[in-house]
Amino acid sequence: MKVDFSRNFIGGQWLDPVEGATMPVYEPATGKAFGEIADSSQADVDLAVGAARRAFDDGAWGRTTATERGRMLTRLGDLILSNAPELSAIEARDTGKPKSVADADIVALARYFEFYGGAADKLHGEVIPYLGGYHVGVLNEPHGVTGHILPWNYPAQMFGRTLAPALAVGNATVLKPAEDACATSLRLVELAAEAGFPEGAINIVTGKGHVAGAALAAHHGVDFMSFTGSPEVGQIIQKLCADHYITCTLELGGKSPHVVFADADLEAAIPVIVKAIVQNSGQTCSAGSRVLVERAIYDTFAALLADAFSKVRVGAPEMDLDCGPIITAKQQGRVQGFIDRARADGIEVIAQGQIADGVASDGYFVRPTVFGHVPRDNAIAYEEVFGPVLTVLPFEDEADAVRLANSTEYGLVAAVWTRDGARQMRLVKKIRSGQVFVNCYGAGAGIELPFGGAGKSGHGREKGFAALHDFSKTKTMVINHG
Ligand code: NAD
Repeated sequence: MKVDFSRNFIGGQWLDPVEGATMPVYEPATGKAFGEIADSSQADVDLAVGAARRAFDDGAWGRTTATERGRMLTRLGDLILSNAPELSAIEARDTGKPKSVADADIVALARYFEFYGGAADKLHGEVIPYLGGYHVGVLNEPHGVTGHILPWNYPAQMFGRTLAPALAVGNATVLKPAEDACATSLRLVELAAEAGFPEGAINIVTGKGHVAGAALAAHHGVDFMSFTGSPEVGQIIQKLCADHYITCTLELGGKSPHVVFADADLEAAIPVIVKAIVQNSGQTCSAGSRVLVERAIYDTFAALLADAFSKVRVGAPEMDLDCGPIITAKQQGRVQGFIDRARADGIEVIAQGQIADGVASDGYFVRPTVFGHVPRDNAIAYEEVFGPVLTVLPFEDEADAVRLANSTEYGLVAAVWTRDGARQMRLVKKIRSGQVFVNCYGAGAGIELPFGGAGKSGHGREKGFAALHDFSKTKTMVINHG
């Protein structure tokens, strides 16, 4: 597969970057460059925002009805499914994911377009009883031009998660995917054109975050920003948005806990807990990266977890094992650094997965690792690693479990494992988190389920009907009819 995705898609056309610069993209499983993307500048972002603005204000896109937009979204979902093998191959090569994980990501991507295709004409306004002689209606309107900045961990799914609801409501969009993995997005805009999206509805500009990404968030022609990525860059985006008085959705990181009580069904819990951290090599904002275990069963739990975790195998995408490589050499170094520091601090390694024979020696692989009896004040207990590293900490009682679950700055997802129904309800209420699962876990699962964080995990909601509200604004209409 030869990737030549070195142009931006703006106003329905493939355009060379204005300043002509390109940058290489690397294959995580081999460390080799396999294509070039446009290294866009402010001038490219100006063109993309201009194209989106014309599409929204005067173009065919701005005149579409909700039903027409729903049909386009549904058609795109169908095209994604009929091109799934090609899209999955691009995604696996660009990110290093195991083949079956990339396959599942493409199905999830299609689901976003199916779900929001069906939802597009179901976002209704309201009528409010008011003074005699008045009619008051509340309309839902698109923001106008929305900017979307994506991370590299689930590039295909993120394309659907952020664009499908924004388009369903009628916004014209400008996307800046992550420079480390954007090939699938570039193929998807071709499919979107085939699905009938008119020029300017979806524009894509690739390049570096601090150049193209910052130019987009700072652009006065952008009316709303959706950002998924690190907390540090999220803060930059929010400040850039504040400079021109717009709001943003921030989907940032996590240090999501599994809280395991002594009465939990461990046979059911352990495989779910292992998958929730090794999925996508732990590069999942909602990865379950902490296990908090009631002290009474700590030793039993740790032995069962070690047995399951030591069977985890890491390899190249085509080997289709549990984990692939880490996305870049830089991230590999960061993840390995967390493991090395925890070991140097004397923290016990409960288990490690295995890297399969035959992987390329220059690939960005790390051994999945579980640390036990992790001190609460060690960085690995509260900082996001964004790799296949699990920490296990004992707790004393229910109050201690809640304190520990809420002891990081993050609040994205949590799981509670107990058979006690009243305790389940108390924990759901007390844990500070955008989602709480009981006796199950879904890292990134469920297009239908509103998703988003508290604190350093961000704000705003994506997925479900909640995303339609975030990608629109209300207008209150007051008519004096006497
Ligand atoms: P990142 O913040 O470095 O990059 C994300 C995007 O922001 C990229 O497209 C990048 O080009 C862009 N960017 C970087 N600097 C920028 C700047 N100064 N101005 C504007 N844009 C800029 O994050 P990452 O390395 O891609 O992803 C890792 C982090 O993202 C982790 O912390 C992870 O938890 C988080 N994440 C969160 C979610 C979620 O849904 N909550 C999903 C994926 C990743």
